[in-house]
Amino acid sequence: MKTYAFPGIIEDDILRISAGQIPYMRTSWFSGVMKENERMLLDAIGCQGGRVMFFTSSGTAAMESVVQNYVAAKGSAFIIDGGTFGHRWVQLCEYHGIEHEVMQIPFAEDIDYEALEQRVACSRPAVFLCQHHETSSGQLLDIRRISDICHKFGTSLVVDVISSFLAEELDMNGMGIDVAVTSTQKGLNLPPGAALVFLAENALKVDFRHNNYYLDFQDNLKNLERGQTPFSPATTLFMQVNERMHRNLEKGIGNVIAATREKALYFRRLCAKYGWEIPAHNPANAVTGFFVHKNADILCDELQKHGIFIMPSGKPHFFRVSHMGSDTYQDLDDLAGLISEIENLPR
Ligand SMILES: *Cc1c(COP(=O)(O)O)cnc(C)c1O
Repeated sequence: MKTYAFPGIIEDDILRISAGQIPYMRTSWFSGVMKENERMLLDAIGCQGGRVMFFTSSGTAAMESVVQNYVAAKGSAFIIDGGTFGHRWVQLCEYHGIEHEVMQIPFAEDIDYEALEQRVACSRPAVFLCQHHETSSGQLLDIRRISDICHKFGTSLVVDVISSFLAEELDMNGMGIDVAVTSTQKGLNLPPGAALVFLAENALKVDFRHNNYYLDFQDNLKNLERGQTPFSPATTLFMQVNERMHRNLEKGIGNVIAATREKALYFRRLCAKYGWEIPAHNPANAVTGFFVHKNADILCDELQKHGIFIMPSGKPHFFRVSHMGSDTYQDLDDLAGLISEIENLPR
């Protein structure tokens, strides 16, 4: 099987970590693994002095935990809704009855940053919620420009980096990000099932709300002191996080990001060759989103006959290929060739 859907192709030896017996987690050995995970993750995202909470959940629970513990404590939110994932912030705030204002961004477009500054200047929200990479379209947002605006008006910056962590340059302290969330099945290129919440030093000073027993920040932070989670963690998945981060730091985070970018650029040249349009104004490294011309309705099924997965979308003719996995340039040549063949099947 070749998968260009998240989390992408994972190396066999990393997959095998979760194929054996499950070691017990209330041990000093597992505490050591988690403490090392925290150190390596903070290092990789430039969040020295901060903390990482580990949840056994998908990424959306991490987003929800931030809304319930952090945004609820701070008050109001300003949200960039540029697609499926931006809209998820809106739904979470609606669901939890948090006052919020929304700036809608058309599909695959960048923000009008001047207009954004005017709106933030006017409403002075307590918290800003956005994505770094809106994965539904492939559009990357300019976090440094957003951060400048937030700092001008005393707004705390929360960024969903679920599909940009380890795929784009990220430096929480340098970029002024207070809270960031990610999950295992994207940049970490691991099975789904765990999510991470990064809290910068600033965010740790907040008097968190207690609205979610399982995802309570104070309780999780207290347990983190001894390298533990309050409840049973996905033990082997956190062992895989450990191995992945060792490998990433050995390669150098900059090199990991560059390798993903190179693969993305290579695939985009193939898109140009076959005439597939890429709508994103500023395409992110993690995925390439592109429009095919014909046979979109059968594309995924036909690829699956060859044991290949790419990601469809709600938008007609629009597909996404992930660059997070350990696929090769040859794999990308083969993939693009096959998509083109299917596109040209007579019907
Ligand atoms: C994948 C993703 C999520 C979270 O989705 P889950 O299915 O809950 O893991 C959130 N935001 C972005 C930008 C994503 O790419």
